[in-house]
Amino acid sequence: MIKGFVLDMDGVLYHGDHALPHAAAFMTWLRAWPFCCITNNPTRSPSAVANRLARMGVHGVAPQQIITSAEATANWLAEKKPGFRYFAVGAAGLQEALAHKGEESREDADFVVVGEGAIDYDGIVTGINLVLQRGACLVGTNPDASVDGSRDGERVVLPGGGALMAPFTVATGQDAVFIGKPEPGLYQMALQRLGLAPAECMMIGDRPDTDILGAQRLGMPTALVRTGRFAPGEPLPAGVEPPSIDVDSLLSLHHALRLSQSC
Ligand SMILES: [Mg+2]
Repeated sequence: MIKGFVLDMDGVLYHGDHALPHAAAFMTWLRAWPFCCITNNPTRSPSAVANRLARMGVHGVAPQQIITSAEATANWLAEKKPGFRYFAVGAAGLQEALAHKGEESREDADFVVVGEGAIDYDGIVTGINLVLQRGACLVGTNPDASVDGSRDGERVVLPGGGALMAPFTVATGQDAVFIGKPEPGLYQMALQRLGLAPAECMMIGDRPDTDILGAQRLGMPTALVRTGRFAPGEPLPAGVEPPSIDVDSLLSLHHALRLSQSC
């Protein structure tokens, strides 16, 4: 029986700087349930994401109901090594999340953490030398090859955390651990926060290869909403089982959930 929900945001609630159709109404309905929003995007803090949602007209999502891959990464590192030392390349959201749990060190880091945005040559040089000379481990916030973004108001494709990790893995010959979807870290943090077992919690997402696949591996029921990168009618990629619900809009998802809950 479904007792709560985990939602992806980009491609489900918004695209670029605009809310998708029915997003505000869907969230008004969802507020009666325990839920968490999760995102592979490590660049903004949960408060910044909540403010951004409100500016788009999607209200009532509190920062503590938002988990970013940056937060999940900081949590994972703290479990792995309490009081960890890190060197991170990435935007403010990542730096903020790591500073809460660990100590920054350019000289003696245990982990080199790679996020998205704000990556420069000097950061790559420092990171690869920490791995090669100090034995630091490479950790990526998210494995995406590319992500949707905007530049000067125009929608553009940006390199994702997976692409930005490439200079580090190629130069060092070391593999990286990734935390974001489809890896289990982000889902597990959401389930823990909600206090629910995987079978009790439905994952709602727009990407079968990340949102849906990662949730299926953990045994979560899934809802695919074809409003993001994955178009209506497009066949599922190999290796992804049909989701529990497969719809073309949040309005259809709302109807499907209301019907299944009243049975
Ligand atoms: Mg998405």
